[in-house]
Amino acid sequence: MCDRLRKVIAVKRWLVLGLICLQLLSSCSFTNSAIAAGKTLTVATEPTFPPFEFQSANGELQGFDIDLMNALASSAGFKVKYQNMPFAGMIPALQAQTVDAAVAAMAITAERVKTISFSRPYFKSGVAIATRTDNQSITNFDSLKNNIIGVQIGTTGALKAKSIPGAEIRTFNDSPLTLQALLNGNVDAVLNDRVVILYGIKSGNLRKLKLIGDLLTEEFYGIPTPKGSPSLQAINQGLATVCDISALV
Ligand code: GLN
Repeated sequence: MCDRLRKVIAVKRWLVLGLICLQLLSSCSFTNSAIAAGKTLTVATEPTFPPFEFQSANGELQGFDIDLMNALASSAGFKVKYQNMPFAGMIPALQAQTVDAAVAAMAITAERVKTISFSRPYFKSGVAIATRTDNQSITNFDSLKNNIIGVQIGTTGALKAKSIPGAEIRTFNDSPLTLQALLNGNVDAVLNDRVVILYGIKSGNLRKLKLIGDLLTEEFYGIPTPKGSPSLQAINQGLATVCDISALV
C-alpha cells in the first residue's frame, strides 16, 4: 500500500513537471511569433536606386523593395516607418540598432554577415559595367585595367572595382552621381548593379551610355537586420508568404 502511494506521488510529480514544461514552451513560442505583431519597425532605405527604391515627383517612396517590404509587413502583421539614409550608413545604423531593418537592394555577402543578419534572399542580381557609347576599348572586365572607374561607396560594385589592375577608383554617394560622372567624362566606366544601370540608362534616356556584357558577380539581395534581431523571424515569415524564392536558384 505504501509502495503504491509512493508510485502515485512520483507519477503525479512527473505530470506536474511535464505540465510546467509545456506551459513554458507554449509561452516561449507565443512570444516569438508575436514579437513584431502590431509593432512599427524603422526601416532604412536609400531612395536613389531605381527601380528598387526611389521617390516620385511629390516625394512618395516607390519601387520594388518598397512594395515588397509593405506587402511582407502587412502579411506578418507589423507596420513600417521608412528612414532615408546613404547606403554606406546602413550597416553602422543596423549595428547601432538605430534602425530595425533596411530595404536597399543589399546583397548578402560574407563580409556583411559578420556584423548583421540577413533575411532569406529575395532577388538575384549582379554587378555589371556601364561605359559611354563611343568607348570602343572597354568591352569586358579585363579591358577595365588602367581606366578610371566610378563606384558608389560601400557597394559590391566598389568591392569588385578594387580587383581591377591599375585602375583609379572614384567614389560617389549614390548611383545617379556615378552615371552623371560617366556622362561628363569624369570616369571611363561605372560598376554597379546591372538592373540599376539598365534602368538608369533607359529611364533617363541616356543615349551616350551603354551597358556592357555579362554579370561580373552573382549576388542575392536580402533584408538586413541587427544581429539577434527579434524581428527577423517575422520578416522571414512575411517574405515566405509574398515571395517565391524557388525562382532564384
Ligand atoms: N547591391 C549593391 C550592394 O549590395 C548596391 C546596393 C545599393 O546601392 N543600394 O552593395
